[in-house]
Amino acid sequence: MTDATFSFELYPPRSARAEELLLDSLEHLVAAGPEFISVTYGAAGTTRGASLAVLLRLLGDTDVKPMAHLTCVGSSYAEATRLIREFLDAGVTSFLALRGDPPTGAVEGDSFLGDLGSAGELVQLIHRVQAERVPFRQLDVPGFPGAKRLGSGEKVTIAVAAFPNGHPRSRSVEQDLDTLLAKEAAGANLALTQLFFHAEDYLRFVDQARAAGVTMRILPGIMPVLSPQRLHRIVELTDERLPTDLLRNLEAQSTPEGQAEVGIQHAIDLSRQVIGTDRPGLHLYTFNQHEAVLAVLRGVGLLPSQSAPEKESV
Ligand code: FAD
Repeated sequence: MTDATFSFELYPPRSARAEELLLDSLEHLVAAGPEFISVTYGAAGTTRGASLAVLLRLLGDTDVKPMAHLTCVGSSYAEATRLIREFLDAGVTSFLALRGDPPTGAVEGDSFLGDLGSAGELVQLIHRVQAERVPFRQLDVPGFPGAKRLGSGEKVTIAVAAFPNGHPRSRSVEQDLDTLLAKEAAGANLALTQLFFHAEDYLRFVDQARAAGVTMRILPGIMPVLSPQRLHRIVELTDERLPTDLLRNLEAQSTPEGQAEVGIQHAIDLSRQVIGTDRPGLHLYTFNQHEAVLAVLRGVGLLPSQSAPEKESV
């Protein structure tokens, strides 16, 4: 599978120690040669500075394209516009446009949304802000040698989220497909899926999306899950159904190393089944650790295998 691409997702570190660990992992992830590395963004802007710092490090120190997750829930047009300008000014040209979840305690229907009601509206706003920028090209971003600013008229990549097993608040598959179509109509040019645990979930969704008229690339989101505790946490966060087969296999192992092996092998098997079925690619959720996702890429054949396996951390 030589023409397959891969990309990674990181989250901004929450402490000095976490930052240190991330910098180490980042070095390994960058060296693998991903198509892009995306950096999550706390709903309501809680990680704005920390997310931007990771993106700027990628821009300044590496050749890897950084992708900024942005959420719009709770923002006014003016606030969202300011945020988009700030990221464009920093040299970021790829975005994952998200609506984001309601704040804690709020439920759908409360007035928490702000001016932008959906990810599609954020996609449109990013295009509008980019198109209205004063044309300029400046090779140096102060403080970040190597970073290149974007002038108006240059194309931005705008990815959006897709949900192979349905968004938790969706009433039907048709609603999920309509939502994805609307995002593409708004100007999105890439979709990244929520993680899933069975290949048929992704394959069925892509078939349905193509039949509905979605033409953009739909990259499968895959996470090697290295312990039963982490699996429970992920299921809680994403509202995905608990994969009882994977849970059983993880629980059957008596050591963290054995569990990590099971989780990595599961991600390798899943990746092999989906990687070439649409336009080849994988989007790997890293949990800010490089060992597991690089082991998956080696298992799939996207990275050369190494003689001594790296130590796994869980
Ligand atoms: P939308 O596409 O706007 O809507 C999602 C769903 O809501 C739709 O599928 C539909 O079921 C329903 N819906 C939308 N509009 C309507 C309507 N008018 N009427 C009825 N139902 C409607 N969250 C963060 O806070 N930060 C991140 O960095 C982040 N990264 C993510 C990365 C990926 C790859 C994924 C899959 C999710 C990520 N999330 C993140 C979570 C995301 O914010 C939530 O899943 C959120 O609930 C949906 O965002 P969205 O962009 O899909 O929203």
